[in-house]
Amino acid sequence: MSEMRRVTAICNGTVVDHIPAGKSLQVMQMLRIDVGRSNPISLVMNVPSGKVGRKDVLKIEDRELTQEELDRLALIAPKASVAIIRNYGVAEKRQIELGKELVNIARCSFWNCVTQNPREPLPHKLRVVSTDPLDVRCAYCGRSQDIDQVAASIL
Ligand SMILES: [Zn+2]
Repeated sequence: MSEMRRVTAICNGTVVDHIPAGKSLQVMQMLRIDVGRSNPISLVMNVPSGKVGRKDVLKIEDRELTQEELDRLALIAPKASVAIIRNYGVAEKRQIELGKELVNIARCSFWNCVTQNPREPLPHKLRVVSTDPLDVRCAYCGRSQDIDQVAASIL
């Protein structure tokens, strides 16, 4: 039984594999599946993995993540691999891509940024200045963002 097979024992849904160990809760936060009513979720943490050392694996039943949802994961799990499962088999593999700009995905984490003014609503724009190491900056005030805070402020 292959490694992928072992972790995909759901009928329909999405498997996010190769999440850096310990980051799966943030992944859930970014997908907004940590709140309220949600589909059944299985979480495997700290699985030994040749590719990334130790990894987390997240399985979401009866939901196929969209590309837009996947791309926001690039902030915390850029090397994650995603499989769409249908009828217990891998129907599609999807790539996560970090775009150059994140529009209305998360807000600038600085309280005194122009984007925080409720009287002049602006689209929230974060620019990816560098991917390794990851440097994401607000398009308005230019300040580097704390990725943990960005993950917590997904819109
Ligand atoms: Zn800002």
